[in-house]
Amino acid sequence: MNQHPRIDLHAHSTASDGSVPPAELPALAFEAGLAALALTDHDTTAGHAACASGCAAVEVDFVPGIELSCNRGKPRGAMHLLGYFVDGSSPKLARVIEDLSRARRERAPLIVARLNELGLPITLEEVQAEAAGAMIGRPHIAAAMQRKGYVDSVADAFVRYLGYGKPAYVRKDNLPTDRAIEAIHEAGGVAALAHPIQLRYADDAELEAVIGRLAEEGLDGLEVYHTDHDAGLRAQYQALADRYGLLTTGGSDYHGDRKPIALGSQPVPMTLLETLREARESVNR
Ligand code: AMP
Ligand code: MN
Ligand code: MN
Ligand code: MN
Repeated sequence: MNQHPRIDLHAHSTASDGSVPPAELPALAFEAGLAALALTDHDTTAGHAACASGCAAVEVDFVPGIELSCNRGKPRGAMHLLGYFVDGSSPKLARVIEDLSRARRERAPLIVARLNELGLPITLEEVQAEAAGAMIGRPHIAAAMQRKGYVDSVADAFVRYLGYGKPAYVRKDNLPTDRAIEAIHEAGGVAALAHPIQLRYADDAELEAVIGRLAEEGLDGLEVYHTDHDAGLRAQYQALADRYGLLTTGGSDYHGDRKPIALGSQPVPMTLLETLREARESVNR
C-alpha cells in the first residue's frame, strides 16, 4: 500500500444525483488508488449496503455518509451538511430523510409545471425516468431537458432555468441546521459543513458568523478540500476550522458523468479519516 494514500470523502451515486450505481463506485475508487471512500448521497442512505459490500471486495475503507439539504437562512446559496459514519436505520435520521424526500416529491411537479408555462413541454414521467427510482433532484430535471434538446448541458439548464432566481427555480423546504446536526449525531455520525464557498456569503464576516453559529449548534468539521475550492480558499477555510475547533474533511463531490469531476481528484490525506474516526468516538448521541 502507498505510504501516503489518498481518500475521497464526498461522492454521489444513482441513489441520489450521481450516474454510477453504488455497487460500482468501489471499483472506480480502487482504480483511482483510493484507500477510503465515503458515499454521501443527498438526503438518502439507500446506497450504503451495496457500496459497503463493493468496498469490502476491493479492500477500500468504506465510510457510510450522507449530505443533508439544510435551510440557508438567506436562500441564495446551498447549505449542505455532511454526516460521516451515520447509521441509516437510526429513527431520527430516518425521520429527517422522510421529510426531505417529501419536500423533493412536492417540488418536482412544481418545477415541471413552471417549465411548461415557459413553453418547454416536459412531463413528470420523463423526469422520473431520468431519476430511475431515486428521489428527484434538479440534475435529473436538467438531464431530461437536455435529452429533449432544450439546453446544451446540465450546467446550461441551471444557468438558464433551474438555478436560484431563474424562471423555473422553486424553493424547497429543507432542514434547520440544528435538527440536521442532531440527527447526524443521534445516528452515531460526525457532522461537517460541505463546500462553504457554495453558501454564497456576502463577505468573510458573514461566512464566519454562519460557521460560528453552526459550531454552537454542535458542528464537528469543515469541508476544506473540495473541487470548488482553490488553494486560497482552502487556506482560508483551514484557518476558520482551526479557530472554531472543527476537524478538516474533504472530497471531490463526484457525480459520475453528470459533472466533469474525477473521483479522488482532491489531495485528501488518509490522516483526515483517522481524525474523523477518533471524533466519532466522542460524539454525544
Ligand atoms: P437539488 O438538491 O435537487 O436542489 O439539486 C442540487 C444539485 O444540483 C446539487 O447537488 C448539484 O449536484 C447540482 N447543481 C447545483 N447547481 C448546479 C449548477 N450550477 N450546475 C450543475 N449542477 C448544479
Ligand atoms: Mn448533487
Ligand atoms: Mn452539496
Ligand atoms: Mn455533494
